[in-house]
Amino acid sequence: MDEAPEPLWLVAANVVRWRRYGDLGQEFRPGTKAFRGGAKVYVTDTHPGTGNEQLTAVGHGRHTGRWITIDTGTRHLHTFRPQLVYSPAVIERCAAMPVRTRVEAAELAELLDRIARLGRHTHHAGPHPYPCLCHECLPLSPA
Ligand SMILES: [Zn+2]
Repeated sequence: MDEAPEPLWLVAANVVRWRRYGDLGQEFRPGTKAFRGGAKVYVTDTHPGTGNEQLTAVGHGRHTGRWITIDTGTRHLHTFRPQLVYSPAVIERCAAMPVRTRVEAAELAELLDRIARLGRHTHHAGPHPYPCLCHECLPLSPA
């Protein structure tokens, strides 16, 4: 008892500061409904059957600060990277997940990064407004 669980290779990411909102994506909302912008999350499940446009993430919830596990749009996350995770709270939420190697986690991170970038450009039918606060445009907009 009280033994530390084996560390797991997971994909970590951060929640975008702003996401486009509304049918044409001309408005903005900070972070997601569940997570603050900038929050660090871990990907605990993917949904290849739907092109991985959604994934399951665990992180500290926006309202309570407690760990939550929730499905979110892949496009709402950025800077996917492999990370060896020691936190028992996270590991216990990954019980059903196949164990990954560092290489597998890195490959998944690259895939999710591509899907997130694509989603930020294609999810909304309208063009990005200008200035745009989305993760793809923020560096291009005036300060
Ligand atoms: Zn944009």
